[in-house]
Amino acid sequence: MGSPHVAVVAFPFSSHAPKLLAVARALATAAPSATFSFLSTAGSLERLRGAAVPGNLRFVEVPTGGGEGDDDETPAWRRMELFVEVAEAGGLKQSLEAAGAAAPGAARVSCVVGDAFMSMAADAGVPWVAVWTGGPCALLAHLRGDALREDIVGHAASRGDELLSSHPGLGSFRVRDLPFGGANASGDMHRVMSLLLHRVAQRLPRAATAVALNAFPGLFPPEVSAALADALPDSLAIGPYHLLPGAVAPAGDPHGCLAWLDRRPERAVVYVSFGTVAAPPPDELRELATGLEASGAPFLWSLREESWPLLPLGFLDRAGAKGNGLLVPWAPQAAVLRHPAVGAFVAHSGWGSVVEGVSGGVPMACRPFFGDQQMNARAVAELWRVGTSFDDDSGPMTRVGVAAAVASLLSGEDGAPMRARARELQAEVDEAFQPDGGSMINFRKFVEIVCARE
Ligand code: UDP
Repeated sequence: MGSPHVAVVAFPFSSHAPKLLAVARALATAAPSATFSFLSTAGSLERLRGAAVPGNLRFVEVPTGGGEGDDDETPAWRRMELFVEVAEAGGLKQSLEAAGAAAPGAARVSCVVGDAFMSMAADAGVPWVAVWTGGPCALLAHLRGDALREDIVGHAASRGDELLSSHPGLGSFRVRDLPFGGANASGDMHRVMSLLLHRVAQRLPRAATAVALNAFPGLFPPEVSAALADALPDSLAIGPYHLLPGAVAPAGDPHGCLAWLDRRPERAVVYVSFGTVAAPPPDELRELATGLEASGAPFLWSLREESWPLLPLGFLDRAGAKGNGLLVPWAPQAAVLRHPAVGAFVAHSGWGSVVEGVSGGVPMACRPFFGDQQMNARAVAELWRVGTSFDDDSGPMTRVGVAAAVASLLSGEDGAPMRARARELQAEVDEAFQPDGGSMINFRKFVEIVCARE
């Protein structure tokens, strides 16, 4: 029997593929005699190229199902729908066969490690090990979706502030934190995401050999971990994924963020980013900019370039002239959040950002938009108390609110417990990645499962 051939299957939208690549790189580093094929669309692979990958990891292209490219005007929800339709209709199986045929020694794929959104891998005929990239509490909510919907159906609006006390593990969350709403997502995107997540909830418990979670053991209170273990007995907390040995190549820094931070005092800078998809409405963006300026704190802001024209008049010039603000279209975020100069994080509370903030020991002010972000923000503010949330329903970011949140997190007396708690959580992350730490123990189990031969 030959060595294992593991196919790592990405979901080629938003920030999913880089997270799967981090897991793939870590696996390929931990199992150097196994072969790894990383499957994604041509455009997605193109965005991931650049950093060297381990020699036993090869990129394999899969069909998009529809258009892809910078000049493609097909909306994201439709591209997603087309991609998934093709994969469901046997496309993933064919790609796995092609990956086998092209591998050294034409070794058939022995295991699929797939983004949970690629849940059609359940029918690929080989063990399916799923990787969940979002917030684990949101996954719990999806797994308990039927019971939750039955409970709140028709009452969601009037009972928004009610705690989900009768649902195991979810008692700290409110009805309106649930990830089923479609706020800020178009109706079509909401429909596509709901279908994907419904399939995830159906297939994961039934068909996945194991499920990786982007968290370390002990991150959640015992009642949450127990509910997760009950819903998904084969889940393994191996994260934060970006800290696994070999997971990421040294960060490129084309806009000089780290050098800029090197020149700032310790814990003085507020870092701002809303991830790869979320975008505050123009008025709110201007309030945020004005609030940052009013706080007087040095800021590093990663903002996609299409939003720059929406900033207040003269904002960029003033920030540049004073030298206390740097606006970039992209920052090496995980490294930024580990930089000693960063003392606060204004975030959309995407799960990747939350675990990167936690790993950096940085308290956060969350502005959730859609999907799991509201539950993640609630975890930051209530479960761990490492930050605050601009609550979508009680009002988005205002200049006064932003300036107050930044001051509180960086140096305010009321922020002191959050800063202390953030440092404690960071120490727990570091502990989890010691050779006998929780994430490393689980990761070794994960590698064994992935590389097992029947
Ligand atoms: N990211 C980055 N630089 C940026 C903006 C985002 O490296 O300027 C990365 C960030 O580190 C995180 C990912 O993009 O790993 C965003 O993932 P998250 O789950 O926070 O949000 P999403 O983009 O999926 O909404």
